[in-house]
Amino acid sequence: MATLAERLPENAPGLFYVDRSCIDCDTCRRVAPEVFAEGEGHSFVASQPETPEGRRRALMALVACPTASIGTASRTDATPGVRAYPERIEENVSFCGFTAESSFGAWSYFIERPAGGSEERRFANVLVDSPRAAGPLLRALEERGGVATLFLTHRDDVADHETFRKEFGCERVLHSRDVTAGTRGVEIQPQGDEPLRLADDLLMIPTPGHTRGHAVLLYKEKFLFTGDHLAWSERRKQLVGFRDACWFSWEEQIRSMERLLDHRFEWVLPGHGTTFHAASPEAMHAELQRCVAWMKRR
Ligand code: SF4
Repeated sequence: MATLAERLPENAPGLFYVDRSCIDCDTCRRVAPEVFAEGEGHSFVASQPETPEGRRRALMALVACPTASIGTASRTDATPGVRAYPERIEENVSFCGFTAESSFGAWSYFIERPAGGSEERRFANVLVDSPRAAGPLLRALEERGGVATLFLTHRDDVADHETFRKEFGCERVLHSRDVTAGTRGVEIQPQGDEPLRLADDLLMIPTPGHTRGHAVLLYKEKFLFTGDHLAWSERRKQLVGFRDACWFSWEEQIRSMERLLDHRFEWVLPGHGTTFHAASPEAMHAELQRCVAWMKRR
């Protein structure tokens, strides 16, 4: 819970504030960029919201913050922020909000997939990486048909995976090379570097680099859920891999990035960094080529 006594001095005067517990995960700046800005190792309220929509976005950031570092100077009903999640991005793909501190505020996504035959039902609704298992989010997911599959891109963003398993009986997927003591019980542990078709419209693509067992998920050849492998950088105005946060092998990560050139998609939906939507698969391909060339120079 944010505390007024710990309020950062940079905050603009008014209702919303960020306190010293902020871990600089970037979530609030992505959710409400008109309100929150980047400081030295933290975020702060640069401008108080002046419209109902601005206030709703600020409340959404408050709810999504992994460390409860955003507060209000007077008692405020956060319901509009809570009810906003899962927030639709496009078609049946949503952002879950409610990020987890153990995942350093990584973003999780929810795909509402219609159930088909028995095999399809196994991979109906999909959660990509684990959000915080907050009660309002669990209820919202339940109302949308629950979670059949929890796809974990890599070992860092598993957060409350066990709670989701208990709540929904979902099957978890995590590459065997990223399984640790805490994820030993994951139901599906693919091996190797070949793409694995989980369903007609779902392709798991191993992308070692950030970690040994990192993998991305391609949905409908349109949405690529990239975990910590690939993201848009607002500062560089291009797609990037995070060299400073590459825990396994930068060379492997470049090779994994090159292999993504074989696939068509329009959206990059990362755990950290900014979401990117290209005008077409061809435009995305060109951006990805630019990213690979940039990575090789690093
Ligand atoms: S969401 Fe919370 S922890 Fe993350 S940058 Fe904003 S205030 Fe800090």
